[in-house]
Amino acid sequence: MYWEKDIETINRDDLKKLQSERIKKTMVQAKKTSYYRDLFQEQHIDPDTIQTPEDLRMIPPTTKENLRSGFPFGFLATSLDEVVRLHSSSGTTGTPTVIYHTAEDLVNWTNLLARSLYMVGMRKSDTFQNMMSYGLFTGGLGMHYGGEKIGALVIPIGAGNSKRQIWFLKNFKTTVIHIIPSYALLLSNLIKNEDLDPKKDLNLRIILLGAEPHSEETRKRVEELYGAKAFNSYGLSEMNGPGVAFECPFQNGSHLWEDAYVLEILNPKTMEPCAPGELGEIVLTSIDRKATPIIRYQTKDLAYLIDGPCPCGRTHSRISRIQGRTDDMFIYHGVNIFPIQVEKVLMNNPEVGSNYRIVLERQDYRDTMKVEVEIKSELFFGELQKLERLRERIQAELRSETLVTPEVALLEPETLPTSEGKAQRVFDNRQL
Ligand code: AMP
Ligand code: ZN
Repeated sequence: MYWEKDIETINRDDLKKLQSERIKKTMVQAKKTSYYRDLFQEQHIDPDTIQTPEDLRMIPPTTKENLRSGFPFGFLATSLDEVVRLHSSSGTTGTPTVIYHTAEDLVNWTNLLARSLYMVGMRKSDTFQNMMSYGLFTGGLGMHYGGEKIGALVIPIGAGNSKRQIWFLKNFKTTVIHIIPSYALLLSNLIKNEDLDPKKDLNLRIILLGAEPHSEETRKRVEELYGAKAFNSYGLSEMNGPGVAFECPFQNGSHLWEDAYVLEILNPKTMEPCAPGELGEIVLTSIDRKATPIIRYQTKDLAYLIDGPCPCGRTHSRISRIQGRTDDMFIYHGVNIFPIQVEKVLMNNPEVGSNYRIVLERQDYRDTMKVEVEIKSELFFGELQKLERLRERIQAELRSETLVTPEVALLEPETLPTSEGKAQRVFDNRQL
């Protein structure tokens, strides 16, 4: 049941001791980077006095902008000779961030993934088709090595090329896939277009959903479409990539692997710790990495801590699904809205298809919000009145979830642009 029982079920006191040991080692590394050396000097911080998770709070958080300003070598703590790989994420604006790994860093990361995959039930008898993009994106190679470590047969197919994906799924009787949730919804349509039933004609039993926010409703839909269990996989390239937090079979939050990361959930305004259940920003410190130590990284991801022991016996803290990002929230008519709120409503409606988007416009100083959503094709053959009733119902549900009343447009399947990578949901065309 466990990949590493001792670590996964470690008691909280011993975990804190282990974290403290690793924090000290991380400080030794941090001192070797030009970014943290300068920061410690400016802030008059003696890194040797940082010895426990609580002590970390003396260090100001690190942001994506800091990582960018340090490009290319500002966060490198070893010689380049020791480095064997780099990953990089470009995000929306120019300069990329870069994370270097020593051979040992990669072994540790791979282990976190093997632990996570084993936890959700993957075994060496499985065939694992990794549908994430290989290359600089961490969902490809990261997950790949985790699967190999378990001994599964890994198919490094990469992202996109749906016809080929389906061909492999069918011919190799793939049992596990790693896929972006929005693409999982699209792919099931394409599978049906090939006259295959994703439930009956494929052999899937485990689906790893990662890389973008998705609601419980989307997970349920994916599980129903494929007749397989879907698990939430959370990670970010600054903290290696996948393998930061993973859902266990009890599926009530994701265990964040605290032997590798120190977790804080902070109120984004005050930067004070949130109580369990209180939504805040995930802030992470890597403590099991040599080449690129990152202290108190502000992920911009919003989640809350789930209190109490998990029936699976693992002691590592559980975080909720990501409820949004501090930067994907938009304000419409003075109300803060996260795209996931819209998604939740849409995916709860069986008539709704697999794609949607939110378009914001400004005309004569007045904002409009339109939710464009694809619905199942059979509905277009029925009565017009029925469609109108559906439109009104979705609109009312959106109003009760978000407190604003968006326009709703029902579209035929495959009319909205699709993406094989992370989906863009919000198109904010307002000139602010
Ligand atoms: P990247 O660094 O390109 O891998 O992107 C990392 C970001 O993707 C995270 O900070 C999250 O915003 C998002 N992300 C990754 N996995 C998940 C997940 N399971 N649920 C929600 N958001 C996710
Ligand atoms: Zn658990």
